[in-house]
Amino acid sequence: MKACKQGAINPNNKGFINRDLCIGCGECANVCPTGALVLKGSGMTVQQVMLELRKDATTYRRSGGGITISGGEPLVQSDFTLELLRASKEQGWNTAIETTAYADEQAIEKVLPYVDLALMDIKSMNPEVHKKYTGVSNELILKNAVRVSQITKTVIRVPTIPGVNATEEDILAISRFAKTLHNIKTIHLLPYHTYGENKYELLGRDYLMKDVKTLTPEKIQALKTVVEEQGFECIIGG
Ligand code: SF4
Repeated sequence: MKACKQGAINPNNKGFINRDLCIGCGECANVCPTGALVLKGSGMTVQQVMLELRKDATTYRRSGGGITISGGEPLVQSDFTLELLRASKEQGWNTAIETTAYADEQAIEKVLPYVDLALMDIKSMNPEVHKKYTGVSNELILKNAVRVSQITKTVIRVPTIPGVNATEEDILAISRFAKTLHNIKTIHLLPYHTYGENKYELLGRDYLMKDVKTLTPEKIQALKTVVEEQGFECIIGG
């Protein structure tokens, strides 16, 4: 197999793809002699996406439903997201995005006015913990959270992970922050699960959460109570 132009495949260690160098062009999958490398997914234009979505247009209209753009992070591809949202609005569909709110101000200002519902992750109020587990500070996220909640209806989502943020203190801190935002009525707690493990395996990456246990129903209930005591509706999952 020809070596990767990006230098992401070491010719002496063909089983290893350096993900920091890989740009996802798929060339290696095209020429892989054993078929061991397979490219999943494909690029699409907004028009192509709309063509697909229109197949379900009757259901959207009847149910009052619409589209949810998730990721990755939709605000990273803000031009594409904006165009898709505009096209959906032209059809009269409801629009939602799932976002980490880790985005630049311009992306938020241009995209959010076309969003009916923002499902926004808040993972931790503790800057060190946030940096340790996500690789970035929570400063920008917390600043953007205020703006997102000003622009559109927002639901806070908390991926709840034992050993990271699944304590009553952590959830209380997030709930108190949510009270400072605009018009938040609902917080979703997303209990940690291991469904993503397989994806890491497929990507050839180490799954760093191997030893993390799932939350017991009693613990989830205790965290839910914390949220409800702060005056929010709390949905587990979502
Ligand atoms: S997809 Fe394959 S060929 Fe393309 S950059 Fe990544 S490793 Fe290299």
